Amino acid sequence: MTKIVSAAASLVDLPVETVRTDAVQAFVKQETIVVDLHTDDGLSGTGYSYTIGTGGRAVLSMLRDHLLPLLEGRDARDIEAAWRELFATTRATTVGAITSLALAAVDTALWDLRCLRAGEPLWRLAGGFRRAVPVYDTEGGWLHLPTDDLVRGALAAKEAGLCGVKLKIGRPRPEEDAARIAAVRAAVGPELDIMVDANQSMTYAEAKRRAHLLEPYGVCFFEEPLPADDVQGHRERSRRRARCGRAGNRLGPRCHVRPASGLVRERFSGKWWPGEGSLRNLPSLTLSGTRKAEMNA
Ligand SMILES: [Mg+2]
Repeated sequence: MTKIVSAAASLVDLPVETVRTDAVQAFVKQETIVVDLHTDDGLSGTGYSYTIGTGGRAVLSMLRDHLLPLLEGRDARDIEAAWRELFATTRATTVGAITSLALAAVDTALWDLRCLRAGEPLWRLAGGFRRAVPVYDTEGGWLHLPTDDLVRGALAAKEAGLCGVKLKIGRPRPEEDAARIAAVRAAVGPELDIMVDANQSMTYAEAKRRAHLLEPYGVCFFEEPLPADDVQGHRERSRRRARCGRAGNRLGPRCHVRPASGLVRERFSGKWWPGEGSLRNLPSLTLSGTRKAEMNA
């Protein structure tokens, strides 16, 4: 047994130098919730989750008042059992981000302990599929940036050897979005991938209209055109074989994940992936084995 002897949570506000905006919100600060777990064999595991400005203190209270006391005395190796016990005690509030963010911080701390004990990085314990992945830049594409800055950022990403850039869309007039994407494409040429992200701000009809305007510029994928819970809208996109959609990275609770994963069964034509910040637990991220079967149930 590797007993958890103490568990603590803290919150760090990270103010931003420049307020970033997308189609639906402003990123004013990052509330980083940190969980530290110490075991009787001398290891310390750290996990974290975050918000982009609100709700972090509620997550902290959930951890301090309810979840962390349940971890003390447990065997740190039984990650799945720990997660399930904590989840079971929070059923009354599990529909939503607060509980999911709290559970995610605990889950990553337990996995950090497992990796430290094994002396292996997480990517290898999670399956070890590949040693390198292509990387794109999403920092230079915020909606408040003038077009010249978008172009400058995209050229810098290309120069740095990145595979692409992701640009926010959702300006009041669709033609504005199109002009911004056109300027970037003209500057970088055909070799750099351009993705767009509407941050769940559109109806299906609006997303279709904007996607049509962007077609000449070779957009690689269209991230979150619709609200995550607009199952009917996603079904419509799927039925009409709408191009290059991605959805789901704000999904956390199972009540959200299950209807969304149902769209995969209905051959949703884009990609679906669970929320990285409010993930229900880490093995879900790998979408492998029994976990995949459960999520698609
Ligand atoms: Mg996004």
